[in-house]
Amino acid sequence: MERLDRFMARANAAYYANHDPFADFTTSPEITQVFGEVLGLWAAVTWEAMGRPDPVLLVECGPGRGTLMTDALRAVGKAAPGFRAAARVHLVETSMRLRAVQAGALPEGVAWHDDLASVPEGPMVLLANEFLDALPVRQFVRRGAWMERFVDGGAFVEMPVEDGAYLLPLPPGEGRGEEVLAAERGPAGAIGAQSRVGNDRAGPLPHPGPLPEGEGEVVEVCEPALAIAAGVAARVARDGGAALFLDYGPAESAPGDSLQALREGKPADPLAAPGEADLTAHVDFAALARAAVGARVHGPVAQGPFLARLGLFQRSGRLARTQPPAKAAALMHSAQRLAEPDQMGRLFKALCIAHPALPVPAGFEP
Ligand code: SAH
Repeated sequence: MERLDRFMARANAAYYANHDPFADFTTSPEITQVFGEVLGLWAAVTWEAMGRPDPVLLVECGPGRGTLMTDALRAVGKAAPGFRAAARVHLVETSMRLRAVQAGALPEGVAWHDDLASVPEGPMVLLANEFLDALPVRQFVRRGAWMERFVDGGAFVEMPVEDGAYLLPLPPGEGRGEEVLAAERGPAGAIGAQSRVGNDRAGPLPHPGPLPEGEGEVVEVCEPALAIAAGVAARVARDGGAALFLDYGPAESAPGDSLQALREGKPADPLAAPGEADLTAHVDFAALARAAVGARVHGPVAQGPFLARLGLFQRSGRLARTQPPAKAAALMHSAQRLAEPDQMGRLFKALCIAHPALPVPAGFEP
């Protein structure tokens, strides 16, 4: 028997170590080169707003095949050579298999890290697409008291919450009868949970927010994602910069089980064959925003309008004019796929965690 987040971490580590994930799902950078290009230009514009620090860390978390970074570097090499020259590329990637693929795609001089903690200090622009959704979640179920989901022989079992006081009532004055997720409630409503992933901020995490009260309701908490938001916020507040997260999930925290699996391109039972399927969960953007203490949070905004503001369609159109008709049509179709509300344009969101003094980043204008 294994706690769900430990099961998910183990299953995904095995999956990413042994599979080509892109046989099972397609991500935005794999749909069109223009995605990585506009994000590269976003990074360059952000760098300008930061006062053009040289050197600057250009960090990507979960770079997959290295496609986003390759497209970004090509675009900024042409449009923003000053940024290209200043940028030191650092990739956070745990899969050795994918590191090898990234090394084949990217120029020399790129550094790899297991987590953000070993990325050097300094002003930073960070990009992460479909990274947080792969991080392990815990799930709690309301059965009068809160229970936690464990996995045993391919099925959920509910156990008393392992770390004792994870779910405690709010102290008087902080909401009536409400509870918050709290391991050890700190002064600012913090939970004591720590994560190995990217948490270079000492201290507890902020709690993920108010809990539903209905019997049988499920609450998901992605501790590593909260740790990354908190760690990134501390870093950009200290050294300057901004981090852009693109992923799918609701803008407001919502109860419910969003764990899902893709196996050979098809939806599968997430608990059935650990390591054979890609496991993901919706990203709770509101919880990330609450965790980003000390920084300014922009968004979340829907991916469609965000990419449109960054010039996805103009750039695709310009590129299409130089291409044969079939390729040109495919480019425009791909742009629509990323931006249309009924495709990836609405469920996917962009969130930026930035230094408090940085102007509103491109694409997040009200
Ligand atoms: N950003 C890419 C890939 C998304 S797949 C794209 O858009 O195409 C998720 C990526 O995150 C993979 O590269 C995977 O190996 C990596 N990853 C998953 N869990 C991780 C973790 N805990 N730490 C670092 N990288 C992780």
